[in-house]
Amino acid sequence: MIYLDANATTPPHPRVLAAMSRALEAGFGNASSVHSVGQRARALLDTAREQCASALGCDARELIFTSGGTEADALAIHGAAAAALKAAPRAGPRVVTTSVEHPAVLGACASLARLGVETVRIGVDGEGRLDLAALQAELAHPGTLLCAAMAANNETGVLFPIDRIGELCRRAGVALHVDAVQAAGKLPLRLSDSPATYAAVSGHKLRGPQGAGLLWARRGAPLAPFQQGGHQEKGRRAGTENVAAAVGLGEALEVATAEMSSSSPRLAALRDRLQGALAQIEGAQVHGAGSPRVPNTLSISFAGCEGETLLVALDLAGVCVSTGSACSAGSLEPSPVLLAMGVPAERARAALRFSLWSNNTEAEIDQVAALLPPLVARCLAR
Ligand code: PLP
Repeated sequence: MIYLDANATTPPHPRVLAAMSRALEAGFGNASSVHSVGQRARALLDTAREQCASALGCDARELIFTSGGTEADALAIHGAAAAALKAAPRAGPRVVTTSVEHPAVLGACASLARLGVETVRIGVDGEGRLDLAALQAELAHPGTLLCAAMAANNETGVLFPIDRIGELCRRAGVALHVDAVQAAGKLPLRLSDSPATYAAVSGHKLRGPQGAGLLWARRGAPLAPFQQGGHQEKGRRAGTENVAAAVGLGEALEVATAEMSSSSPRLAALRDRLQGALAQIEGAQVHGAGSPRVPNTLSISFAGCEGETLLVALDLAGVCVSTGSACSAGSLEPSPVLLAMGVPAERARAALRFSLWSNNTEAEIDQVAALLPPLVARCLAR
């Protein structure tokens, strides 16, 4: 099996499995319990938080463990909006986001919209580049509380210029939430030095466990808790902590950070090798290649050939990839990210996403590069 779907999820690293297994055996206590078993769990949680802080370049006290990237995004967006509104109720509160965000961000913004918060989406061009002039204009509107923008796009890998976005937010006095789920573990992040106010990270995208994530909230940043009922995570996220998940996330971030300087160039070279080969196929179009991208991601479509058909054919040949399409009411909806980039619906339905991880080899890439041309030809001949 050749696994090229790392942006969906990654296999846990052996060090993560070992650390989680130890934590589940020896650290099963409730980290809020006063007795020694509870204190052992608390110590594991503290160590995990320190590991995460060191990998992400921030203060451990600013990190809130969550059940993943989706919860971290929701907590930042709802928590920032609720806190700001409580502090200064004002007419016409607004949140600005982008048209290519993950559903975790777009869904949180949509639920704020149902509560009367105006939400505005900034568009991108054909290479996935954000319209910074439009962003600047929107940030200037009175009542704008928050801007939510992703560091790296999950489908195309395109990187947003977070420093420039942050500078625009700073000048407008607007808080910035960065969805760093697809950037963490792939690119160096120094959150304290970044212009962000909040950032979301997810464990399973970087060889950690599923159901483990983090919200970083800069010291002093307003944040109202989303769920109620406990004082965990300094009152910012109620609910008994998942100690083993936090331990796995800490270990995964430590490993990814230690290996990043060698793994990133290697992944970029493998991705470029795959892209170079697949782009030769007639009708191929790479999406977002004109922009800076995370090293592991390739979005490519083959004219006249549905992505889903190729995905199934690749799966039968032992290769795991994904499409950007979502199945909705029995029909395939084209990727909203590619549509936002101006890709016609039929072309967007043809897209495949290849996302590499640290164990992929040149031999695997060459095998996939050899598999694709006959599969595309067969698809077109139907
Ligand atoms: N944000 C981005 C950019 C993602 O790619 C994902 C997952 O695909 C998420 C958020 C949600 O993370 P999780 O799966 O941990 O809930």
